[in-house]
Amino acid sequence: MNSADASSSEQLISRWQQVRDEIAQASEQAGRAPDAVQLLAVSKLHSADAIAALNAHGQRDFGENYVQEALEKMQALAGRDIVWHLIGPLQSNKTSEVAAHFDWVHSVDRLKIARRLNDQRPAELAPLNICLQVNIDDEASKSGCTLAELPALVEAVLVMPRLQLRGLMVIPKAGDTRAFATLAKTHAAILARLPALSGFDTLSMGMSADVTEAIAAGSTWVRVGSAIFGARPTTS
Ligand SMILES: *Cc1c(COP(=O)(O)O)cnc(C)c1O
Repeated sequence: MNSADASSSEQLISRWQQVRDEIAQASEQAGRAPDAVQLLAVSKLHSADAIAALNAHGQRDFGENYVQEALEKMQALAGRDIVWHLIGPLQSNKTSEVAAHFDWVHSVDRLKIARRLNDQRPAELAPLNICLQVNIDDEASKSGCTLAELPALVEAVLVMPRLQLRGLMVIPKAGDTRAFATLAKTHAAILARLPALSGFDTLSMGMSADVTEAIAAGSTWVRVGSAIFGARPTTS
């Protein structure tokens, strides 16, 4: 490692530590247990080396958006104690790779994708952890099921043996953190309606700009990219 790499790795660790402090502070302010909120480090478009550096400091969970890019990193980092989360839109032609290699998918938003993941999850692996992505603002351009579609999707996924339904995920319209409270209320309503539902303990919400608001509203996973890794390289 040359000295430029060493100093950028130091910066990376110090930004990561700042985000951890921010999470701890927001949890305390919200009166929540210190371990109630987990940090998903969103490493899309950042290198396997950066992931390795954070992993060496104890960050286990990493979020990726692009399946092919993620598979390459998994191969480069094979043998490490890393939990891989897919958080980006998932096309049906990628589901078998995802079922075979990821631990979590936060972005399931339709029955067809859930069915394929359930059918394709290898028998020797634990059930795949699933969050259903909800499009609270009903923006036509965004992925996620509508609030109206959600109950049927919940009922369908919860009987799929190779999927473990863990909770709900949202990406709010920029700057509009009201979606966090709506998602939390929706999650509570599902639990009230299905009291026997076990393991449905997850609210995946909050990104670099709104970690504190998301934690105040009950987030259990914040998905943080740029506040840890810096600006993402452009793809073009
Ligand atoms: C990229 C991404 C994030 C991280 O966003 P930052 O603003 O960089 O923290 C979180 N969630 C999803 C679904 C993303 O695509």
